Amino acid sequence: MTDSYLVNVTATEQLSPNLRRVTLAGEALRAWESTSKPDEFVHVHIPGEDPAEGWEDDHDIARHYTIRRWNPEVPSVEIDVVTHGHGLGASWARDAQVGDVCAISTAHGYYGAPEGSTRRLLIADATGLPAIARILEEAAPEETFDVLIELISMDDAIALPSPATVNVEWRVSGNGRGPSALVSCMRSLPVPEGDAYVWVACESAESRRARTFIRQEWTRHHTLYRIVGYWHVDQEEQLRKWNALTPEQQAKYAAIWDESRPDEVNWLELEPYLQELGL
Ligand SMILES: Cc1cc2nc3c(=O)[nH]c(=O)nc-3n(C[C@H](O)[C@H](O)[C@H](O)COP(=O)(O)OP(=O)(O)OC[C@H]3O[C@@H](n4cnc5c(N)ncnc54)[C@H](O)[C@@H]3O)c2cc1C
Repeated sequence: MTDSYLVNVTATEQLSPNLRRVTLAGEALRAWESTSKPDEFVHVHIPGEDPAEGWEDDHDIARHYTIRRWNPEVPSVEIDVVTHGHGLGASWARDAQVGDVCAISTAHGYYGAPEGSTRRLLIADATGLPAIARILEEAAPEETFDVLIELISMDDAIALPSPATVNVEWRVSGNGRGPSALVSCMRSLPVPEGDAYVWVACESAESRRARTFIRQEWTRHHTLYRIVGYWHVDQEEQLRKWNALTPEQQAKYAAIWDESRPDEVNWLELEPYLQELGL
């Protein structure tokens, strides 16, 4: 159980046709702590009531969003939401009004470039754009980033200011409007060299294809990449398949995911097991 922090919507801003910023503030955030990882995220509990125990795992009432910016002075957080269509989170962000109440959880983050390395490859669909914007904004001048982002529309290609050296390739594909092209684009990229760090955040099935590609074709060590599935294109079907697993299969899945190991080490065992289960 993570802690929960009650907040109000204090501002909204349409950043681009499909990206809406919601600013959340409240005295409760004085106790909230940033992890300082630039892809850190929280669970946002969408209804206004005090969240019940266990809400952070409950897809009926909560969604994950990246902390795009943390302002401890106010205190407030900004989250940038892809208003992709129907969905509790997308609808909430689209309709959010100043004064609306929600709650956020403790933060977690994944980004972990090895010390001393300065080259990065960031790959994402629209849901990873807020994290990429923060990673670039908080980067050091000596870092160099190659960035590949798949959008719903080129009008969503927002400015990405950074003190670092940044090359961005935008394209329109995926994002639930058609097949993702991220992995096929990765095939035409030069193989990352040395201790270059690769970070990928996108639709879950595409993220798994990206991981397989990075391991098999680029033969990267697990400390040099972090891949995160942000959403499911076939969410209802995935849930149906998961619920159809036997208790033994679900227990084996849980046993493979060992919190004491790095997530990417867990994935080395999990991916073949998910494929065996047809997931
Ligand atoms: C660590 C992490 C950080 C994230 N950060 C952000 C962020 O900063 N901004 C952000 O917008 N999202 C972010 N996401 C993704 C977001 O949590 C999901 O997209 C979530 O499912 C949206 O909830 P919803 O209620 O709008 O849609 P849901 O109710 O979850 O889904 C409803 C339907 O919409 C589809 N759907 C869900 N998301 C998308 C999408 N993005 N594009 C197209 N179809 C979709 C589903 O397949 C389903 O059919 C993050 C996810 C994770 C795990």
